[in-house]
Amino acid sequence: MMQRKSRSGEVLDTISNFLASPPEGTPAEVIEAFSAPGTTQHLPPKLFLETVEQAPIAISITDPTAHILYVNQAFETLTGYPRDELIGKNESVLSSNSTPIEVYQDLWETIQQRNVWRGKLVNHRKDQQEYLAELTISPVLNPKGSIAYYLGMHRDVTSMHQLEQQLKFQKSLTEAALDAAPMVVAMVGADRKVLLDNHAYKVLIGDFRGTEPATLFLDALEQQIGFDLGNVCQIGEGFTNIEVRLDPPGSSNPRWFACSGVRVAELDEAAQNYFKQSDVARCCLLLIANEITGSRNRINEARLNMIRASMAEQQMVQTMREAISGSIYKLQAPLNVIKAALSMPDSSASQNGLRKVLQQALESGDEAMESLHGALPSPTSEQATVVNINELLHEVIKLSTEKMLAGGVIIDWRPATVLPGITGRANALRGLLKYLLDNAIQALSESDRDYREIRLETRVDGLELVIEVMDNGPGVPRAHRLKAFEPFFCGWTQAKEHAGMGLTMAQEVAIGHGGSVEIDADFLGGCRIFVRLPLNGSGGE
Ligand code: FAD
Repeated sequence: MMQRKSRSGEVLDTISNFLASPPEGTPAEVIEAFSAPGTTQHLPPKLFLETVEQAPIAISITDPTAHILYVNQAFETLTGYPRDELIGKNESVLSSNSTPIEVYQDLWETIQQRNVWRGKLVNHRKDQQEYLAELTISPVLNPKGSIAYYLGMHRDVTSMHQLEQQLKFQKSLTEAALDAAPMVVAMVGADRKVLLDNHAYKVLIGDFRGTEPATLFLDALEQQIGFDLGNVCQIGEGFTNIEVRLDPPGSSNPRWFACSGVRVAELDEAAQNYFKQSDVARCCLLLIANEITGSRNRINEARLNMIRASMAEQQMVQTMREAISGSIYKLQAPLNVIKAALSMPDSSASQNGLRKVLQQALESGDEAMESLHGALPSPTSEQATVVNINELLHEVIKLSTEKMLAGGVIIDWRPATVLPGITGRANALRGLLKYLLDNAIQALSESDRDYREIRLETRVDGLELVIEVMDNGPGVPRAHRLKAFEPFFCGWTQAKEHAGMGLTMAQEVAIGHGGSVEIDADFLGGCRIFVRLPLNGSGGE
């Protein structure tokens, strides 16, 4: 107390000078500590000194060589030194050898340039116990502008540091556990920002060429189960094992994931909500995606074998239909001629015999027609379901792989990464795609190109789903572009088993689904066919 009394004027001057022109960069909290409970100008000197004396933060004033002139009560309590033992000593009395020398060098360089230094030092108390001190040192200038004093303020931040370290440890522990997990994990905010992810997730970013996988999963989940991230707070129990298909760019193999989602409520950090819950609840989604491509592929392989068998059967029925329809078509022409001849008025005796013969030919022709119509296998009826065109195309590619390998054809498969399902008849649509792919393969086999490529692309265009089948073969001549859709038109050089019904049937299926098939008239260097199907069609005939 003796020291404080004898130096109180000096302390007051120091602090008043400091507050009159605080150095640039002085933290507001330092100024506030001295200003409370009112402005210093209006505070009686005694009261002002009491305020500094009882401030909760450790305050010291030193000369320009860091020799202590004054310390407040908080300084004594924190360091364990009574002030009598401190006055006249260098602040280095608190120094522990755990602080690197570079930190002190930086401290001194800063304050000697009349700037405020803020940082952390490891100090020790009188009992040698170490603590982490957060310091602010401000130079106080005399009227000539040179440094007269240093004003130091520090507090013990050891427990905060311990908490930070514990938090860091918890975080690295969580991250290590997440990284070791084989499934893809991501915490997604309501604004679709990924707040946390794991190693498997990062690998997936690479597989999808930089596209955020969370966006792909969320788009697919929105299409499949109508999941809306904006309403994540309302998802209740969340969702489990929703199978999602993603088509990576540049790969012909789709990937399958079983997705689960759990709502996680965000903690409100706002000070005003310390005593009450925030009115607006904020949640994020913990998304877990387990890759099931392997098992899905095995199931698909078995499915493909069934499809192969059913398509062979369909093909047989189709060939019969085509052959019988062709015969009906061809038989109709001479029957029409006979009908026309019989309708001519001629009653000469010599012609009577011929008329009889023609009449008999017509009758047996009509009978043959009737039995042909009777033999025409009826088209198979099929229920409409939700189908994924990427999946159908992928199956068709697999079914034609051998043919393409034999013909040296390379396939460039460019599916939309996420494609919405449409209502349609799976077998009919698969047939449509097979006709187009077979045509492209046939076109390439008739071309003399060394490099043979088929490009298959899918995308969503407005309210339509567009499939593009492109080959770099000879292309469809302008004169054939409309005819190609007529029944029994065959423009192939090697017609072989082709009945000329492929495009007719493809168009029939597309129209049956409310869509269209069209040859791109402007395409150069081969043939490009567009199939357009409505996204919200009923899939019925
Ligand atoms: P030293 O060898 O004395 O110093 C280490 C390096 O610091 C030197 O190599 C030199 O680059 C620089 N340095 C030291 N003194 C000076 C100087 N007078 N002029 C220019 N450069 C110098 N230190 C703490 O450890 N804990 C504290 O709480 C603390 N509070 C301080 C409060 C104030 C207001 C001031 C001005 C300084 C404070 N210091 C504090 C710094 C302290 O004065 C010492 O510089 C520091 O403790 C290092 O002392 P040392 O004996 O370990 O090493």
